Amino acid sequence: MGKNRGRILLIYPPSPVLNREDRCQQPTKELLVIPPLPPTDLMYLAAVAESEGFEAKIADYSQGGNFEEDLRNFNPDYLLVNVATPTFKTDIEAFTIAKEICPDITTIAKGAAFLTLASEAMYFAKELDYIIYGEPEETFRELIIGVAPYRILGLYYRDDIRVKFSGARPFIKDLDSLPFPARHLVDNSIYRRPDTNEVQAVIKVSRGCPFHCFFCLATPVSGAEVRKRSPQNIVDEIKECIEKYNIKNFLFWSDIFNIDKKWVMELCRLIIDNGLNITWSANTRADTADEEMAEMMYRAGCRLVSIGVESGSQEMLDKIGKKITLDDVRLTVKIFKKFGIRIYNYFVIGLPWETKDTVEDTIDFAIELDSDFISFYTATPLPGTKFYEYAKENKLLNSDTSFKSAYFYPSVNTHSLTKDEVFELHKKALKKFYLRPSYIIKMLMKIKTKTEFINYFKAGMNLLLRR
Ligand code: SF4
Repeated sequence: MGKNRGRILLIYPPSPVLNREDRCQQPTKELLVIPPLPPTDLMYLAAVAESEGFEAKIADYSQGGNFEEDLRNFNPDYLLVNVATPTFKTDIEAFTIAKEICPDITTIAKGAAFLTLASEAMYFAKELDYIIYGEPEETFRELIIGVAPYRILGLYYRDDIRVKFSGARPFIKDLDSLPFPARHLVDNSIYRRPDTNEVQAVIKVSRGCPFHCFFCLATPVSGAEVRKRSPQNIVDEIKECIEKYNIKNFLFWSDIFNIDKKWVMELCRLIIDNGLNITWSANTRADTADEEMAEMMYRAGCRLVSIGVESGSQEMLDKIGKKITLDDVRLTVKIFKKFGIRIYNYFVIGLPWETKDTVEDTIDFAIELDSDFISFYTATPLPGTKFYEYAKENKLLNSDTSFKSAYFYPSVNTHSLTKDEVFELHKKALKKFYLRPSYIIKMLMKIKTKTEFINYFKAGMNLLLRR
């Protein structure tokens, strides 16, 4: 394949620092210990572009850089923007700027918001030429190599002035067929672990989740079937990160890491047998881990697991279709603690049926579990979720609804609490959990380095100073 079929700029537009993974879109500043994640989705698309002979450039303008200058200097033929729901309106402005500076440019958007808002966006943003609907890599590849838009599944396009949709594209069956993310196009040193401040890469080990929880975008974005990469393919990417970029810390990104024990054990065995000497974290469900798995994960370098607990009220768990019990959570937390793996619990406050009592149950349960870190997210009905449809049907969405502070400030009232009441309960929950003397002493005992101390101190100050 000859080089220089054209130039492609792939961007996170100028905005506050925001995690823009389609499933997980959150401003990072307010969330204490959530680090900014590298633009792995763009790196996959850039790798696809390079494999087709294009020159690609990635820019995450939330971390710096000048969009207009890059347009002038790089003069791209294509612009791909990851549009996030919290910054939807300002992200879309990138297309206007691009067409002003590079009139011949072809503009493309991707993002979970388009699962619901693609037609509106095409009508609203005249400078936006294409929207990729669903999993982007194959649709993007066909578009840039010149396949006719009506033949490309997963594409919104214009036919004359009419907006058309080519139809949904099936999810990619064999994830091993994708090239490794183009990390050489990114300053990897920006993206660091929040505790030790070491550089951390995100490795996407699987996609999809069968549970389709009420508030979650994982199933709409990546499908109900868990598609796993082969352990060998993952280990090959880890080796590349070590050898080419000297990265030894990883977040194994998946919608659900430990649903297949045989696969987890095989991946861990390969990491150990190859002597990779890495540390990593992963997300686990509360009903799929056992002691054998946890021990093997620790031996392979796992030092943190995140568990979506969501609520301390069984009624809330049942209503959101989480399909776990509080006892499942208690047991899983105990198992990981036994093997010295730190635990990050996620909770959601402000679900439609939430009352002060159920929030109190959640705070009490978080304290009972006594894990290392928690986030209390405010429930956010992002377009694409069941929650969004419910909020629309039940008139919880109104002209005040904003996703600007997704997960940190409520977008909608519950049936019995106002947004402000939910926010107050959210602040109370954080303070009650993090400002316990027993918690502070426990975490101080676990700190191993000065950098870790400084980072925890900063997170603590953030917590104390929040209004
Ligand atoms: S199990 Fe986790 S990833 Fe899957 S839908 Fe529920 S919250 Fe989302």
